[in-house]
Amino acid sequence: MEFERAASVHPAPLIDPFGRAIAYLRVSVTDRCDFRCVYCMAEDMTFLPKADLLSLEELDRLCSAFVAKGVRKLRLTGGEPLVRRGIMTLFRSLSRHLADGALDELTLTTNGSQLPKYASELAACGIKRINVSLDTRDADKFRAITRWGELDKVLAGIDAAQAAGLSVKINTVALKGVNEDEIPSLIEWAHGRGMDLTVIEVMPLGDVGEQRLDQYLPLSMVRARLAERFTLDEIDHRTGGPARYVRVKETGGRLGFITPLTHNFCESCNRVRLTCTGTLYMCLGQEDAADLRTPLRASEGNELLYAAIDEAITRKPKGHDFVIDRRHKRPALSRHMSVTGG
Ligand code: SAM
Repeated sequence: MEFERAASVHPAPLIDPFGRAIAYLRVSVTDRCDFRCVYCMAEDMTFLPKADLLSLEELDRLCSAFVAKGVRKLRLTGGEPLVRRGIMTLFRSLSRHLADGALDELTLTTNGSQLPKYASELAACGIKRINVSLDTRDADKFRAITRWGELDKVLAGIDAAQAAGLSVKINTVALKGVNEDEIPSLIEWAHGRGMDLTVIEVMPLGDVGEQRLDQYLPLSMVRARLAERFTLDEIDHRTGGPARYVRVKETGGRLGFITPLTHNFCESCNRVRLTCTGTLYMCLGQEDAADLRTPLRASEGNELLYAAIDEAITRKPKGHDFVIDRRHKRPALSRHMSVTGG
């Protein structure tokens, strides 16, 4: 399938009210997933009717409009991006922006289950690095966390990705009483295979039918415990994202920490997030959003779309303010991570 090129006129780049250039777009291509991780989704999630989703052609046009406006990095996520039917068509089509130099990086965040099938094709599209989410290497715990997942498939997916030449970073959500004791061995395993690992704090997003406070483990505690066992040397490595990195002296590998609740990482935020229905969120942690589907569908040209994107960027907030509501035990935001894209 051939998708249209973005308009050749070069529209004004995206600078938000705080002078931050928006160069990074994360796109949730589906809200569906083959797993039901306990901190991410309720077991009986209701998904969007398929008719509400943007088509792959529309997603391509939207992404390309952002590329024309100066976005240099695109990450497809979800839900699970690799369960969207025909997703490789979108990767193949978007890879033209890598080929012509408009895009520095095209990448994805995945749970890994479909990588045995798609890893080589992803590499052939010019994808260099991917993030794979993995919270445990214990098969029973893996099943308990993901409710539906199979560890073996994910490990085979990681093997396939590395065999295809993709650089893999592991993302691990720190869960109190679940995987906290396993974090050191996950680090040793990942670093032993040449993979960076980033530990993520649970964020209060969406009602998942579990007590958020039961899952929450401050990374300050994780880090303090790791420091008893490993030498953590501060390094300057920045990926343009919210992670702060250290080098683990004993393994030689890089370890990242994403601490939305205990550390404010918004000052340098250069990203916006698009949902699979064409809603643009200017901040993961705020409700304010812009509808891009209407201007996208209103005309074949991109002028209305560019105007809507420009207007949205004037509303990008300075930062988020996640708070786990201790009194009512409610999520800080009603929207799930699978909607905005993690
Ligand atoms: N399905 C893909 C995957 O598993 O990576 C992409 C989407 S998933 C929503 C992206 C990341 O968000 C995963 O690493 C997941 O563990 C993380 N995540 C989901 N809900 C979260 C929450 N409430 N707090 C912190 N991280 C969360």
